[in-house]
Amino acid sequence: MAIDTHAHLADLPGGDVVIDRARVAGLSGIVAMSANILTCEGTLKLARAHRGYVHAALGVHPTEFFDQNLEAVMEMIRANASECVAVGEIGLDYWHKLVRKDAAQRERQREFYVRQLQIAREVDLPVSIHSRGAWGDCLELASSHGSGRGVFHWYSGPIDVLDGVLDTGYYVSCTPAVEASAELRAAMARAPLERILVETDSPVWIKSLGRESEPKDVLLTLQHLAELKGLSVGDVELATTRNAETLFSL
Ligand SMILES: [Zn+2]
Repeated sequence: MAIDTHAHLADLPGGDVVIDRARVAGLSGIVAMSANILTCEGTLKLARAHRGYVHAALGVHPTEFFDQNLEAVMEMIRANASECVAVGEIGLDYWHKLVRKDAAQRERQREFYVRQLQIAREVDLPVSIHSRGAWGDCLELASSHGSGRGVFHWYSGPIDVLDGVLDTGYYVSCTPAVEASAELRAAMARAPLERILVETDSPVWIKSLGRESEPKDVLLTLQHLAELKGLSVGDVELATTRNAETLFSL
């Protein structure tokens, strides 16, 4: 019974239909990520409507903090922590066009990240970290401010940073992009199965499907990951589901 550990359900058109399709496909749950205050509200609504199946994560994404009020975000997380399994999606993204050449925005991005790492620790929840183009800094700040519980989602960064991520106790997660992404393949080949989660990050355009992804496509992730690891899909499903249940206390 696979679990999609990272889906932006509140951003998917027809949320309930997508959840039904995930059940039919045999998934045992979905960890629903948020990216701003609005999707935090949408995530909570979906988790309440599908209790025990949709698990909420609240947080502000490193490409969506620009118009967000950090204190309101902190309050939102604190007030609803008992209904959540994680704080996320948080992190850094130095490749975003509004951050790439703007030191002040980069500093603000780091402040959002650090404060959310700290509140996750305070309310005792794991974190889901986006680290694109900022892998080393993400790890460094997670090491100094985080609890060590969390996942570097869709990890496609350098292998030496990956080793640090694993040494620090974090998981890494795999998406359907493992079919074609050399960076993701290298990371997944290196990481031991007992530290890998599977996810979709849906909705994301998947070329081989000719459509946007949804949680049931985590089965594709399992298939490609099993091929890469030279293991059966069943073994990979069992191990990664156990990992998700452990990390998110499901
Ligand atoms: Zn995401």
